[in-house]
Amino acid sequence: MMSFTPKTLSELHASLAQLTPQSKIISGGTDLIINMNSGEITPDALLYMGNVPELKKIEQVGDTVEIGAAVTMTELENSPILQGKLQAIVDGAKDVGSQQIRNNGTIGGNIGTASPAGDFIPILFMLDAVIVIANSEGTFKELPIKEVILGPGKTCIDYNEAIVKIKIKIPESPNYKSAFVKLGSRSKVTISRIGVTMGLEIEDHKITKAKVVIGAITPTPVNFEKAEKAMIGRVIDKDLKDEIGQMLSDLIKEISKSRSREYKAWAAKGVIEDVLDKFVA
Ligand SMILES: Cc1cc2nc3c(=O)[nH]c(=O)nc-3n(C[C@H](O)[C@H](O)[C@H](O)COP(=O)(O)OP(=O)(O)OC[C@H]3O[C@@H](n4cnc5c(N)ncnc54)[C@H](O)[C@@H]3O)c2cc1C
Repeated sequence: MMSFTPKTLSELHASLAQLTPQSKIISGGTDLIINMNSGEITPDALLYMGNVPELKKIEQVGDTVEIGAAVTMTELENSPILQGKLQAIVDGAKDVGSQQIRNNGTIGGNIGTASPAGDFIPILFMLDAVIVIANSEGTFKELPIKEVILGPGKTCIDYNEAIVKIKIKIPESPNYKSAFVKLGSRSKVTISRIGVTMGLEIEDHKITKAKVVIGAITPTPVNFEKAEKAMIGRVIDKDLKDEIGQMLSDLIKEISKSRSREYKAWAAKGVIEDVLDKFVA
């Protein structure tokens, strides 16, 4: 099997030009190696992303945070730049699998896998992230995450393209905070079965702006508009938690085709309570 280990972005472009439809990009390998070991995929070449310094950085450029595709969960969890307004990413990273997975698994690989249970996908939907993709011709294109994730295991990224960066515009309001909670986050090695992420602006204890995205109940994340509307002007108290929890329970019953639909609908209230608690803590 051929292997490519580019050390610069121009070497990355050149390596991409040598891939075939049977080739695979590898970052942390936490998903890919499992699929190779099971014989599900037999790549003719692997292109490793972890040696390009630009892909390992988290930096603020003006009003935007740029996260390299090869940044690991542990690096996300410990990034001072993400704490605060982009806390949802930190929450997501903290709750991923085991320490070993967090040390190796990357944000680019999470997008590449495009699992309905991938934790970062709903968070990146909620934050309106833009994905920067390198191609084999030496150029880059930028696409909103919603156009990158097409369905379970499906992205718009071609075999000779690679995610290099994730760009997130930092919300302007000083009253903005974000958070993520998944069902099962208290037991460390779980694949998300409901992921709830919110970005809220709160003034004088009242919610003035809300963005709510639910992951892992449908093939791609759902924008929970009904909850967003119901939260405006409200204080985060027991009534609000119960009301939004019931709405999520109803939404799951209505749209989820998962076999564990009944369980998810039952558990929804607890997840909503946990995520809203993060905004009053
Ligand atoms: C025990 C265990 C627990 C887990 N727990 C969780 C969890 O709690 N939450 C969660 O979300 N996931 C979890 N996962 C899944 C996995 O760890 C994540 O999806 C991780 O983010 C994958 O990143 P990676 O760098 O290891 O990807 P890889 O395995 O290297 O690649 C995954 C896929 O993405 C493609 N790819 C990788 N990098 C790029 C790139 N830069 N551009 C384009 N395509 C790319 C690869 O070709 C491959 O198809 C778990 C996995 C295991 C084994």
